[in-house]
Amino acid sequence: MVWSPDTSTELYGIIGHPVAHSLSPAMHNRAFRFSNINAVYLAFDVVDLASAMGGVRSLGIKGLSVTIPHKESIMPFLDEIDSMASRIGAVNTVVNKGNKLVGFNTDWLGAVRALEEVTDLRGKNILVLGAGGSARAVCVGLRDRGASVHVANRTVEKARVLAQLCDGAYSGLDELDDVSNWAEILVNTTSVGMLPDGDRSLVPEALLSRFKVVMDLVYSPIETKLLVDAKNHGCKVISGLKMLLYQAISQFELWTGQSAPVQEMEKVLLDAMT
Ligand code: NAP
Repeated sequence: MVWSPDTSTELYGIIGHPVAHSLSPAMHNRAFRFSNINAVYLAFDVVDLASAMGGVRSLGIKGLSVTIPHKESIMPFLDEIDSMASRIGAVNTVVNKGNKLVGFNTDWLGAVRALEEVTDLRGKNILVLGAGGSARAVCVGLRDRGASVHVANRTVEKARVLAQLCDGAYSGLDELDDVSNWAEILVNTTSVGMLPDGDRSLVPEALLSRFKVVMDLVYSPIETKLLVDAKNHGCKVISGLKMLLYQAISQFELWTGQSAPVQEMEKVLLDAMT
């Protein structure tokens, strides 16, 4: 039977500004249909966050994805925040538990799960490029899994602050040669390499053979220059699309308490990107 919404349909959505580019509605709606869950997921372009959060409560919206620029500013509007989201200082997922709004961060889970598909993390030395919002989630997640982190960032002061948060070391981007001898895994969390500048990479090719695993958070293009170079030097590579997929899978699981249809959701992403 073809599904159609009725008076018991539950509402989920993404709030951000802008949200027109988001792949989350397509991914989550496919997951709801595939799992026979009577729910819909919509995109809300939100500028006035306080009013929107009043609406979430009064309309009984069951769950939210939260994206830029609201990942930090949403925190005061929530009733409870999970400990990893508090440490990271950002919420990308809200679960409405009986009108109590609870904040989570699934970005760190997405990154860790993508890496753990190809490598153990405990005891590993990991070089993280970048110290922005996504780097915070990645570094706190890696530390939680027992890895040692070195943060290298263009703005060194931001690297210092993040290194403190994850008990790691830090430097500018000019010390990559030295740090590459220490690390076996490399994670790029900067936006360098993203289209339309797809021919850029922060890492000189000559350093790449030192790493076993290289992950790029950039997913547009799916195969960045960094990943192409790394593959040519024998590294296992992980696209940012995997992190995007796994953070959404964790959201679905938090909202529904069910396992997510991983392959269906991945198909949505691949169809949208190719
Ligand atoms: P952000 O908070 O704005 O941080 C940007 C980072 O990139 C900063 O460390 C910045 O360095 C660095 N950077 C920017 N331009 C640079 C350049 N020309 N040279 C050297 N470093 C440069 O952004 P974000 O939210 O962390 O996102 C970063 C990237 O990750 C974006 O491409 C985003 O699409 C991607 N992302 C992917 C996922 C996923 O699920 N795959 C999730 C989140 C984000 P400074 O501190 O010196 O400015």
